[in-house]
Formats: sequence, structure tokens, C-alpha cells
Amino acid sequence: MKLPVAMALRLYNTLSQQVEEFSPAHDNLVRMYTCGPTVYDFAHIGNFRTFVFIDLLRRWLRISGFQLDHVMNITDVDDKIIRNASAQGKSLDEYTEIYTKAFLDDCAKLRLEAPEHRVAATKHINDMVAAIERLGAGEHTYASDGSVYFRISTFPQYGKLSHNDFSGNIAGARVDVDTYEKADARDFALWKAPKEGEPFWESPLGPGRPGWHIECSVMAIKYLGETLDIHAGGVDLIFPHHENEIAQSEALTGRPFSRFWVHSEFLLVEGQKMSKSLGNYFTLRDILEKHHYQPEVVRYLLASVPYRKQLNFTFDGLKSAATAIDRLRNFKLRLDTEQFPEGVNEQLSSRTTRACRAFHDGMHDDLNTAEALAAVFEYIRDVNSAMDSKEFRVGNVPGAVELLSLFDSVFDVLSPAPSSGTLLDSEVESLIAERTAAKKARNFQLADQIREQLLDRGIILEDTKSGVRWKRK
Ligand code: AMP
Ligand code: ZN
Repeated sequence: MKLPVAMALRLYNTLSQQVEEFSPAHDNLVRMYTCGPTVYDFAHIGNFRTFVFIDLLRRWLRISGFQLDHVMNITDVDDKIIRNASAQGKSLDEYTEIYTKAFLDDCAKLRLEAPEHRVAATKHINDMVAAIERLGAGEHTYASDGSVYFRISTFPQYGKLSHNDFSGNIAGARVDVDTYEKADARDFALWKAPKEGEPFWESPLGPGRPGWHIECSVMAIKYLGETLDIHAGGVDLIFPHHENEIAQSEALTGRPFSRFWVHSEFLLVEGQKMSKSLGNYFTLRDILEKHHYQPEVVRYLLASVPYRKQLNFTFDGLKSAATAIDRLRNFKLRLDTEQFPEGVNEQLSSRTTRACRAFHDGMHDDLNTAEALAAVFEYIRDVNSAMDSKEFRVGNVPGAVELLSLFDSVFDVLSPAPSSGTLLDSEVESLIAERTAAKKARNFQLADQIREQLLDRGIILEDTKSGVRWKRK
């Protein structure tokens, strides 16, 4: 279908606090980094709101004509992981393997595309140590009690992402200064000395482990270069995580770290952020196994509210999402199975073009999924009545199918999930892409985990010269 000249994709940039036209800086390739999960437990559907948003962003960038080079990290060492692993008498690897596997399984169920690189923090410790040493050579760091801190006073632009004025905050935070032996309350740890009994890596900085912020800076720069096109995550990461990433990265390279910073709003429960610490959370497993919803219903619900609006999670919301999917599938069934009169209804053809245009405009408008969905549902309402009155003709079918396939290339909810235990072909492909990316990143442990995970679900992989082949047991 030929559409009138397209608007450009616009995204809200937290850095400039403006909606800006987006295109990558070089070639046609979008260099994108998104903060991934901390694998200390099952992810909840609040986390997946952010990961579904990232999936929509990926898909829409590609539909907009760009290629992608996307890195997502897995944080597989942090305080909570260390605490939980030691409580269960497991090594870090044994512990994080369980939740990494669970995360990948949930991603496949939610039909989240695999990023080009999925990278684990513990596989990049040497890179992190080298970066901290370079920051030290530039006098951006100091050591205190075996830990190494970033000295924020050496980065005068600190606060430019969160638009915080830190001058007033210092006094109130003095208690922290005493607790953590920091020179300034804002300073953050790059390298943490181990407490009694904690796991650590030997390094020229002394025994320890990396801080969370340095992980992302180092892996982003390693795989994508010094300046990214897009860096994304949930709004809770703006401060301090992304502010700290900017400080370290720009102190290291002297260049802007990312051109666009894109943040998704929270999933709420009764007005409060869904979070582990508040105990008001549902995992994907809870919703599928205890409440018997299909994963695509969760995907639809999370995708249907534009990412910059808060989304209040309710079971009524899930029911409405299920009804919306039924409507879409029934429409598709009508198109696939009904006999329509010969010919083309030109008016309906232009109605289809208008709907496609409106879908594109909605998505280009800072991924306004509500506008894009409205375009599809208004179209379905009009076409259903045109079918009832026999005005819809055989020649109108391809246009309607094209609109539905445009819709589904973003929302991906039309095909039903297979009965439990069986993976869809697209889920298998997505896990294989994850495994290929893991191998490319020399993360053979993750690659082996994925092979086992597929085997558990009855999928056998065969590595051949021409790529990976798979079959069902
Ligand atoms: P974490 O595993 O805690 O590092 O979080 C993974 C991602 O989930 C981050 O991008 C967070 O910003 C995001 N996130 C956490 N809670 C919520 C929530 N209630 N709604 C939306 N995103 C969230
Ligand atoms: Zn991060």
C-alpha cells in the first residue's frame, strides 16, 4: 500500500526535555543500549512493562527503516544476588543461572525480540577494572576503605539528565557521607571492597566487585562505541543510575554518552509503583499459572498504554485486553474465511489507507500506542459494518490483511500461544537468536543455558556450517 509522505519518528528525550525527531548519527544503524534485569529473583510485570516498551521501540525503529545494534545487559552480581545466593548456599553462577533462564523464558512468552547482544556483567570484569583505572589516571576517582569512588566534583555537568540542582541536597545527605566514607554525598562506588564472606574478584584495584553503574557504561561503550543513539530504561533509572553512567562515560571519553535518553513510566498497583520491596507485585508466572491468562494478553495490556503514561494494573484491565484480542482475531477470521462480493470498493480502499496512515502517525508520535490502536479499532468497526452490508469486496481483503499485519508486526498478539509447555516457532527463533548473540559475546555459559532450556521444552538444536537448525523432539 502506498502511503502519503511519512512524518518522521519523534521521541521524547529526557536530556533535552523535548520531543525530538529521531534518526541515528551514522549510517542507518541505531546504536541502542537498554538496562536489563538484575537476576536476583523472577522479574515482575512492572519490569516487563519496561521490557515490552523496549520491544515496541525496537520493532518500530525497524519498521521506520533503521537497522539495529542493541545491547541489553544482565546484572548478575549485586548486593541482593550476593545476599540471596549465600542464604541458599549457592555460588553466584549457580544462583543467577536460575533467574537468567527464567527471565529468558518469560521474554520468549511475551514475544520480546532478542537484542543483538545480551551481555552479562560478570563476563566483563576486566573491562570494568581497566575503565576504573583510566578514570583514576584522569583523577576522577579516589580510594577509601578498599573501595574506589567516582569524584563527582570532577564532572561539573552532573545533574544534566535528571535536571536536579544538587547544590541544596548536600547538607541533608551528610549522614551518608559518614556511613560510606565518601568525600561528597553524591559520590558513588565504582569498585566495592568485599565484606566478610562475600565473593570478590582479584584486581589491580584490590579485591572487590564492580558497582552497578560502571557495568552499563563499560558494556555500552565496548559494544556500541563512545556515543550511543539511544539509551533507555524505566524512569526510576534516570537518577542516580543514568546520571552516574553519564558522569563516568563522559569523564572517560570526553564525548556525549548518548544522544537520546528514553524512559518508560511505571506500572502501578492501586496508585503505587509495582515493586518487590512493597510486596505489591505479580510475576508473569503468577498471571499465567494462577490466574490463567495467556501471555499475549499481558503483552497487549502492557503495550496498550503509551510508555510515558503511568499504567494502573488491574484484573479488569487484563480482561479488557483479552476482549480486545478476541475482537482482532475475530476480524482476522472473517477476512480469512468469509466470501465477499467480487470487485473493489474504492471508498473502503482509501479508508484502509487512512487507517494505515493513522497507525503510522500514532507510532511516530513518540510511540503513541493508544492512538495507533484507536486507528485499528475504528477501522475494524467500519469494516465489520461494511462486511455486514456487503459493501466490502474481495479486492479490499489484501489491504485489510496488510493493515492487520502492520499492527501485528508491532503488537504481536494475533497468533494464539500454544498449549502450555509447547513453544511457538517464533519463541524458539527468539531463544536461538539469544543464544547466537551470547556466543558472539563469548558468553558460553549463557549459550549453554539456552540450549538446555530449549531441550527441556522439547527443542533440539544442531549447529551447522550454515547456521543453527532446530527440530522438535
Ligand atoms: P531491575 O531488575 O530492578 O534492575 O529492573 C529492570 C527494569 O524494570 C528497569 O528498567 C526498571 O526501571 C524497570 N522497572 C522496575 N519497576 C517497574 C515498574 N513498576 N514499572 C515499570 N518499570 C519498572
Ligand atoms: Zn544500566
